[in-house]
Amino acid sequence: MGYLENCGSLQDVPREQNVACGIALIGAWTLAFGILCSLCGGQQFAAQGPEAQLRTFDQRIPTIMKQVSAERIQQTIEKLVSFGNRSTISAQDEESIKAGKGIGAAREWIKAQFAVYSKDCGGCLEVKTDEFVEQPGERIPKATKITNVYAVLRGSDQAQANRIMLVSGHYDSRNSDTLNTTDPAPGANDDASGTAVSLECARVLSKYKFPATIIFLTVAGEEQGLNGSRHFAQMAKQQGWKIEAVLNNDIVGGDRGQEQDDTVVRVFSEGIPAVATDADIKRLRALGGESDSPSRELARYIVEVRSTYSAGVGAVPVFRLDRYLRGGDHYSFNEQGFAAVRFTEFREDYNHQHQNVRTENGIEYGDLPKFVNFDYVARVARLNAATLASLASAPAAPANVKILTKNLENDTTLTWDPVAGAATYEVIWRRTEVPDWEQVQTVNTGTRATLKLSKDNVIFAVRSLDSAGHRSLPMVPEPER
Ligand SMILES: [Zn+2]
Repeated sequence: MGYLENCGSLQDVPREQNVACGIALIGAWTLAFGILCSLCGGQQFAAQGPEAQLRTFDQRIPTIMKQVSAERIQQTIEKLVSFGNRSTISAQDEESIKAGKGIGAAREWIKAQFAVYSKDCGGCLEVKTDEFVEQPGERIPKATKITNVYAVLRGSDQAQANRIMLVSGHYDSRNSDTLNTTDPAPGANDDASGTAVSLECARVLSKYKFPATIIFLTVAGEEQGLNGSRHFAQMAKQQGWKIEAVLNNDIVGGDRGQEQDDTVVRVFSEGIPAVATDADIKRLRALGGESDSPSRELARYIVEVRSTYSAGVGAVPVFRLDRYLRGGDHYSFNEQGFAAVRFTEFREDYNHQHQNVRTENGIEYGDLPKFVNFDYVARVARLNAATLASLASAPAAPANVKILTKNLENDTTLTWDPVAGAATYEVIWRRTEVPDWEQVQTVNTGTRATLKLSKDNVIFAVRSLDSAGHRSLPMVPEPER
């Protein structure tokens, strides 16, 4: 049985059902607001209804999703497994690369794949590496070269090409011993599956043009301590990259164990941002907003994308940074202040992760391709591709969003700066105790809205729309006195 049983979460059901649920759930609300809004005077508001909650249907996106191939993903995962042991500290000398063994061979193969995709789109991808030497540490016995491999699909709109959406997986692997470099470490699920998502998104999305830039990243060093992603995120921060969203896919193989629910994928997001200052935390204590970090807005956005474009897999947002006792590359980006989430299968089988390949008491251990559900990985890749396409098609989120708190008053006024490429804006809100956005008000003119709603009772955000209706990530306001 799947997670998608009822209308409990308005956005976690198929689109058709969503309309019905929306009407049932917020019909009364809409009526009430309609009456209130007749008092709004002077605001250029469009008509409002449950339909307004649904994202605009972009015909390109189902076409993009259709091209994601489970067979291609299977080939990628099996190829990565064929390198034997992809430990970050395994061989990367010329001879091993030629023999097709070790992390060096994996790295060169990934580079070559990106190059093939680029050739197929007339050189539309820039294939790059981020290479550095990690000094010895707990899991790195001697100074080791670590290489992240990535491809850049530059945005087609010069005014927006500096905005970046990023998808990532880690191509290194491990077995029972983090320091072992000789015995098999197939890492089919952890994380050839995530690497395959990044590569497949590159292959498919490179056939299209988007106003903003998309980066397809594969990192090493994850199993030794997130070394690769940390270096990459720090570089991005130092160079002033405007990364708006990071989709980290780690263990998205949909292990074929009996208890798996292959109808859903989990999306983990931090609550209080890693970079929150003391002043931020003080404000969160006073006014709430613990569940409105940029990463959490990204998680909500993914759920909305899922409810608009059927990827064949549901998105279950998990409101925590990660699972117990585990970590991942999205941390590295969070620590530099970027919005980043983690996709992981619904139920993990720990016999098939970080294990030497063996059979003991009739139980099979090891992260082998036969435990991976390639069709599931393809569905997760479709959700990633749809999210990247939506975000890279949409304008940036409004900046400098303020909620005016000069006087004690029951109405709420929001202001924001105009956004390049935005045709309209939407004010969205929800009651403080519910997880998902509930209501929307379109603002057709200007960058200011006054609503007959008390800011004390709801959480607000503002998002931008282009003329085709692509929506940006929401931006929650800061109080202005
Ligand atoms: Zn992993």
